[in-house]
Amino acid sequence: MLSKVLITSGPTIEPIDPVRFLSNRSSGKTGYFLALEAKARQIPTIVFVSGPSGFLPDGVDLIRVETTQEMRRAVRQHARSADVIVMAAAVSDYRSVRYYPEKIKKDGERMDLELIKNPDILRELGEAKGPRQVLVGFAAETEDIFVHAQEKLHRKNLDLLVLNEISTENPAFGTDQNQVYLVTATGIRKLERMEKARIAALVWDEIATIAQAKGLS
Ligand code: C5P
Repeated sequence: MLSKVLITSGPTIEPIDPVRFLSNRSSGKTGYFLALEAKARQIPTIVFVSGPSGFLPDGVDLIRVETTQEMRRAVRQHARSADVIVMAAAVSDYRSVRYYPEKIKKDGERMDLELIKNPDILRELGEAKGPRQVLVGFAAETEDIFVHAQEKLHRKNLDLLVLNEISTENPAFGTDQNQVYLVTATGIRKLERMEKARIAALVWDEIATIAQAKGLS
């Protein structure tokens, strides 16, 4: 039996000054449907860590965060006791080195903003992963997608990677439908273009299979 799952969702945002931030196009829909599906499967504890998003499920342990560092803190509190961790959040890869407490004046024609890399939460989870824990990551790729996906699966010590090919035909972000591939150590399975709610069900079927193989259910 799976007793606790941890799902991250939405974007993270990185403030620059009181009115501006860095972020990305994630809507949080994928994480939302993954949480609904976990509820449908009657997993007793669902911890849902979400960046700013309008898609917040009811009946879960909701932790709202803004920055990547806040998400990392929330995830760390729950990771060890979770049977399944699904990092569906589109984490901001970089943040501003400095936070400007006053609104930056638009004086010059150009301005430089120095960025620093955020910690890779998923990679840290992969390093600490227990033998009876299932770790799922997401990837959005635009070129050599399968090579990058398999490399990521291995480097981050994942059990499953849900791969989005980002293109004009498949924008993936913000839409209700998506076309993804499920990448595991045993191979790559293409899912046809479908509703994100159905993708969530198929992702959970795959998680259940992996969990069973690890003696978790
Ligand atoms: O390496 P890449 O950003 O493509 O990996 C995407 C996966 O890693 C997603 O599951 C995302 O939630 C996670 N990630 C993370 N911390 C980061 C960047 C990505 O946990 N700083």
